Amino acid sequence: MSELRVLVVSPEVTPFAKTGGMADVCGSLPLYLRSLDCDIRVFLPGHRSVQQIASRARILGNVEPIICGLPVRGTIRNTRLEKKVTTYFVENDALFDREYLYGTPEGDYPDNLQRFTFFARSAFELCALVDFWPHVFHCHDWQSGLIPVYLRTMFADHPELSHSASVLTIHNLAYQGLFPMDLFPLLDIPEQWRDVRGLEFWGKLNFLKGAIQSANVINTVSENYSREIQTEELGCGLDGVLRDRRDDLFGILNGTDYTEWDPRTDPYIAAHYTSENLEGKVSCKRDLLETLGLPEELMTRPVVGMITRLAAQKGLDIVAECIDEMLALEVGFVLLGTGDQKYHEMFQRIGARFPQKAAIRLGFDNELAHKIEAGSDIFLMPSRYEPCGLNQIYSLRYGTIPLVRATGGLDDTIRDYDPATGSGNGFKFEAYSARALMQRMISVLELYRNRAAWTDLMRRAMREEFTWARSASKYMDLYRLALQQPRHRA
Ligand code: ADP
Repeated sequence: MSELRVLVVSPEVTPFAKTGGMADVCGSLPLYLRSLDCDIRVFLPGHRSVQQIASRARILGNVEPIICGLPVRGTIRNTRLEKKVTTYFVENDALFDREYLYGTPEGDYPDNLQRFTFFARSAFELCALVDFWPHVFHCHDWQSGLIPVYLRTMFADHPELSHSASVLTIHNLAYQGLFPMDLFPLLDIPEQWRDVRGLEFWGKLNFLKGAIQSANVINTVSENYSREIQTEELGCGLDGVLRDRRDDLFGILNGTDYTEWDPRTDPYIAAHYTSENLEGKVSCKRDLLETLGLPEELMTRPVVGMITRLAAQKGLDIVAECIDEMLALEVGFVLLGTGDQKYHEMFQRIGARFPQKAAIRLGFDNELAHKIEAGSDIFLMPSRYEPCGLNQIYSLRYGTIPLVRATGGLDDTIRDYDPATGSGNGFKFEAYSARALMQRMISVLELYRNRAAWTDLMRRAMREEFTWARSASKYMDLYRLALQQPRHRA
């Protein structure tokens, strides 16, 4: 086949809208795929942040899918990713002009089913509007999970779409898009999809399950995670469904956009530095301490950084459990995050108890995220599970040594430091416990005191490469495989 036509359908895409790593993937992978004989385009909802960033985007026309008998109107606008990749978004202010993407810190928006049903249906209307008929729809997480279902149902005999395939990338299995079963009629799909072989999940509707059942191929964002989700422990109730599809389930490690995350060029940090000349990192640390109002004396002590969604997945409970012990070791602690109210309060209390040692910033702040990557010495990711994780990869590039729990993509990307040989690029611990975290932290701090060995480790970490080039060609293989795959469910 000559040029492959691919539509990336994603609820968030950097720089237009972001809550986590999925946005970074959808904002950078297409840039690499476009050089691989691929006409790749991107589609996302017109969230408030998208409208602000792409305020001058051209209007292409309206779409009006009939949802449950009623037309719902959206406006399609056209912008570009990095001035290169055609990117469309659909505006419907009642559905998408909101402060957050999926919900407030108090909980999910109550109309998420309607919002993301409209989004999926608009994707097909978009194809007609701009006369772009994808060979492959590349869907991301539950928010675009209805696309594979509609390809099997509503569009199974469509003259332009009957041969289209879908690839489902699971960035996080824990978020599934669960809704009351009585909303099923709003989806406009045949009755048989109500049952356990369709979207039914313990009496509810489950968008991700529908996508897993119907996508041609599925992948997760690291190899390890593609195995872990087939176990009861990390399968979030879908392990059986995933095991059924194990022959079509793959793992492709996320790449990194080093144009955004590199201390040589980063516009947000106080000074640039490289693995050959680390002087600038000292200025970055001073700048971070000043920005956060932490005392100068921390310049001679290790500073531990975290940038994270405040969710149970991220290991925040075990950090809170051992924070007194950790701070007693004369380290500084910096956390930037937003998410569940419970963790907001938990970490606010920590900030108030240790004003001279800990700085807690609750919110989403890209510039501060860059400053933390550059200005910290150690980057902590004690996740309960981690589909890929990007911050540990960014940290390597900034010479900020990752201390991670050995799970998912963290385990795939971090090699434990071995004092005997000096090999490795970071530190790992196995058990999900405050005790295991602290035990490993003690060996990290021991190495930190050995300046020569620490500098050597920093330099090695900074030279690691996790570029998109390799992963992008694996996605091309996946697209081709999807097109060869028989339709999974009639
Ligand atoms: P996840 O996708 O589970 O949130 P990842 O490590 O894959 O975790 O990606 C997180 C991305 O979101 C990183 O680019 C990180 O810098 C960014 N990020 C997370 N929380 C914040 C925040 N509060 N402010 C700025 N950036 C954040």
